[in-house]
Amino acid sequence: MSEITLGIIGGGQLGSMLAISAKKLNIKTIIYSDDPDAPAQNFCNHFISGSYNNKEKIKEFVNLVNYVTYEFENIPFETLSEINKLKPVLPKPSVNRLIQHRLAEKDFINNLNIRTTRYASVENASEIKSLEDLLPGILKTTTLGYDGKGQYPINSIEEFDSLNIDLSKGYILEKLVKLKKEISIIITRFNVQKYEIYEPIENKHEDQILKFSKIPADIDKKIYDQSKEWAISIAEELKYVGTLCVEFFIDRNNNLYVNEIAPRVHNSGHLTINAFNVSQFENHLRAVCGLEQIPLEKLSNAKMVNLIGDQISAYRKLTQFKENEFFFDYLKKEVKEKRKMGHITTLV
Ligand code: ADP
Ligand code: MG
Repeated sequence: MSEITLGIIGGGQLGSMLAISAKKLNIKTIIYSDDPDAPAQNFCNHFISGSYNNKEKIKEFVNLVNYVTYEFENIPFETLSEINKLKPVLPKPSVNRLIQHRLAEKDFINNLNIRTTRYASVENASEIKSLEDLLPGILKTTTLGYDGKGQYPINSIEEFDSLNIDLSKGYILEKLVKLKKEISIIITRFNVQKYEIYEPIENKHEDQILKFSKIPADIDKKIYDQSKEWAISIAEELKYVGTLCVEFFIDRNNNLYVNEIAPRVHNSGHLTINAFNVSQFENHLRAVCGLEQIPLEKLSNAKMVNLIGDQISAYRKLTQFKENEFFFDYLKKEVKEKRKMGHITTLV
């Protein structure tokens, strides 16, 4: 077998889990991150740290690899498209550009006749006054948000005025969905109508950060089928290669909405490591590196708990886990509030 070296941009826990999976497939990994303390350096074959605009460093990285992928969305489009001239970047840079912009992303989804919550672009304070029917809502930065960062719940025009937000960066106002549940679908697309799709995963957030995931999701057949169908249309329309996650809302009237798309492996899919024959990470590598597609088989029901901030401390002290428990410490240098530090998956 010819030896493959994969470049991964981004050095967080998703990068670590991709690197671990790669080892199993005999794929070498080189991680590039702008954070010199990136935890994924503990798991990859070689680590390069530099800014995402540093042409020299990026070149050094690209010269060492056969393919390039990424584990987070906020990479300058310029950088990805320059790399793509030298080595294949998958998913394609244009996919990343579309999805890293909340407005373009939502327009794209609606053009597929797939429901999202109602939304409008907000560029100056006077516009809010004409958007009262989107309240209560959530104001979100159009770019660079994650784990609820850059989001403001807005109940009234007065509340908006009192927040004094600088809107020049570009914002989107979304109508608040009265949530019954949140689910996600993880799909790995290999080629035209060739994909592996996982069953819907049920997710619970706390403070806009994912806290729990489980399979099976407690949903009816209509939602089960529709969420899968929508995820497939999205992946096909994007001509996507690799693993993608679609996050959904279900409202109290049992309507399904797409919340957002993550053009990468996803936190809610950590349980696929232990609950399926092939994890979302391995599937991503298989698709991006052109390896064989293996039919998915579910091995077990499962639940996953994210360990946020100092919740990790108690687990670090444990020396033994039950046979059906799988603890993962991301080895982040600093424990910070609201930071994902590790997770534990339990097969049930
Ligand atoms: P992030 O990019 O930070 O993941 P999301 O848009 O997915 O941002 O928001 C994070 C969480 O906040 C969602 O999973 C959901 O729990 C809540 N949330 C966000 N937007 C809405 C909305 N329009 N209605 C109801 N809940 C929302
Ligand atoms: Mg989200």
